[in-house]
Amino acid sequence: MGMSNVSDIFGSNVFSDAVMRERLPKKVYAELKKTIEGREDLNPMVAEVVANAMKEWALEKGATHYSHWFQPMTGITAEKHDAFISAPHSDGKVLEEFSGKELIKGEPDASSFPSGGLRATFEARGYTAWDCTSPAFVKEDAAGVILCIPTAFCSYTGEALDKKTPLLRSMEALNAQALRILRLFGNTTSKRVTPSVGAEQEYFLVNREKYLQRKDLVFTGRTLFGAMPPKGQEMDDHYFGAILERVGAYMKDVNEELWKLGVSAKTQHNEVAPAQHELAPIYSTANVAVDHNQLVMETLKKVAMRHGLTCLLHEKPFKGVNGSGKHNNWSIVTDDGINMLDPGVTPHENIQFLLVLACILKAVDIHADLLRESAADVGNEHRLGANEAPPAIISVFLGEQLEDVISQLISTGEATHSKQGGTLKTGVSSLPDLVKDATDRNRTSPFAFTGNKFEFRMVGSRDSIGEANVVLNAVVAEAFAEAADILEKSEDFEMAVHDLIKEYLADHQRIIFNGNGYAEAWVEEAQRRGLPNIRSMVDAIPALVTEKAVKLYERFGIYTSAELQSRAEIQYDTYAKAVNIEARTMIDMAGKQIIPAVIKAVKALADSMASVAAACPEADVSVQKELLLETSAYLSETKVALAALQEAASKASAVREENACQAAHMCHDLVMPAMEDLRAPVDHLEMIVDKSMWPMPSYGDLMFEV
Ligand code: ADP
Ligand code: MG
Repeated sequence: MGMSNVSDIFGSNVFSDAVMRERLPKKVYAELKKTIEGREDLNPMVAEVVANAMKEWALEKGATHYSHWFQPMTGITAEKHDAFISAPHSDGKVLEEFSGKELIKGEPDASSFPSGGLRATFEARGYTAWDCTSPAFVKEDAAGVILCIPTAFCSYTGEALDKKTPLLRSMEALNAQALRILRLFGNTTSKRVTPSVGAEQEYFLVNREKYLQRKDLVFTGRTLFGAMPPKGQEMDDHYFGAILERVGAYMKDVNEELWKLGVSAKTQHNEVAPAQHELAPIYSTANVAVDHNQLVMETLKKVAMRHGLTCLLHEKPFKGVNGSGKHNNWSIVTDDGINMLDPGVTPHENIQFLLVLACILKAVDIHADLLRESAADVGNEHRLGANEAPPAIISVFLGEQLEDVISQLISTGEATHSKQGGTLKTGVSSLPDLVKDATDRNRTSPFAFTGNKFEFRMVGSRDSIGEANVVLNAVVAEAFAEAADILEKSEDFEMAVHDLIKEYLADHQRIIFNGNGYAEAWVEEAQRRGLPNIRSMVDAIPALVTEKAVKLYERFGIYTSAELQSRAEIQYDTYAKAVNIEARTMIDMAGKQIIPAVIKAVKALADSMASVAAACPEADVSVQKELLLETSAYLSETKVALAALQEAASKASAVREENACQAAHMCHDLVMPAMEDLRAPVDHLEMIVDKSMWPMPSYGDLMFEV
């Protein structure tokens, strides 16, 4: 694409509100808007007209196919393409067709997607249903131009089989309960409350040719072997560093693709680790943000290939180097623009804000296990709690100003003032003095208040942000509901709300932590406070099916108990499968690439000793001998560890079909340690074997030669 302004291309591939207003008859547009805003069910006649307009628009864009685009439990998106053609007429011609029925409902084969047991008990059929709250778009790729229709994916009996259905349900719950809070404070004008979400996405870029030479990256997305290069990230010279030309060209291309799709890619910069970068869009409504984050991930990967690069979205592609995550920025906003998380300049006087804050603290404290679970994915296992990402312990960072207001409230029952930020003097007359925020940043907190939003920082870089937002919406809806239940009945509202805020803050203040989340002292302190420290995904999964979770989700119709059971099952199974693939990849690499290469290296050393000794008996061959001994020792250690890993992996995979939970635990307890045991001697070998004989690119090759 040539030179163009952002405003020219932005949203050009989206069947947006503006396009609909232009192309739909006034009445149809108005009716559809009512459905989008949740005020009316979809009228089939409306769907028919919308489908036709959508088709005409897509055909003008060159589309040949349409696809119901959905988000099954695999964590990525799925699509099945159908051509817009009708059966040929007698004259052999075909027409482009797309009906309202085809827009509203699709029927992909549900049996190929994870259902966690729902399939065994119910029907194999699955349906996709149009989500008219997220705009349709056309996607241009190798398969041609495709009209993509965002959809929810459900079973024959209505169980959610995807990440979108529960999200939409949780947004309904939050809307209903947040409106109750607003009404209590005399707001009669706001009609709808929605969560706003902005997801910052981290990723690595590596040279594609080198990537293809590493089976571990190809099969698992992360390196399973690899010694640290002489230079790591210790110089901190990459973070916010100047962007390399090749990477810059890539980012430009990514932005243009995303803008066309209506994704408002806004900021980009280099991240902490070499070859690591970040992209953040401007926030939008939660379900659109979830869809857009999927498009961001897909686009990052697709465009990389065009530039001879590969984008690694794995949470921990390189051991010993910072991993990647996602910061899920979340706030609650009304249709008339009120952000319920905006404290104003003097938060101590903002009673509605203090109630909202107290409810959120309560919700996060009570459901810390669910939040932790929502960020559990196989790759994040290597990251959370590893002094680079938030710890596995959930706590809330509020910053100086709010912490001070809260301690006034708890100690005296009255908050009389709010600390202010003041001015930052630069000391240089030509530079402006800056108005300081009332609160500094804290990078180590998993759940940080950042001005007018909360930032949940635990989500993995490869994961969908869907679940995290389901949990946030649901737990806060519950806290709002409980507060409203009490306050709606109160005789003296002022007094009751004051008492309730104080009670919630006093009861749940243990969740507030403004210190360094990476410090060992915090782990001990958190334990004293009774906060859960759930280190592994396998230990996080049970949070889905506790009595507390079932009660929460059933109350708001977000998940049924059966849906929760199925999700837990899928998580265990996913974990076991992923670890199994990693183990098999290591076994393959060690057996077919590494051990044979080391044997050659040993032979070369032995040959060298023999030929030197033959040529010159008095020459010193002690270096070769020492290396030969060392290499041989690591080689036999490798062989022993390989056999042990084979045994552990086959034990775990033998039980997977029968019992995914047991298999997942075996993967965690037996297979992962065996993988570490195999990796250790191989990484030593990489350091001493002639580089030209090592069968794959090194960490240095991958990270410093993009
Ligand atoms: P940071 O200071 O962490 O870089 P930014 O202000 O750049 O934060 O925002 C990071 C992300 O948060 C962006 O995607 C941004 O659009 C989003 N964001 C900003 N304000 C809000 C809000 N009120 N609600 C939700 N997301 C928001
Ligand atoms: Mg951030």
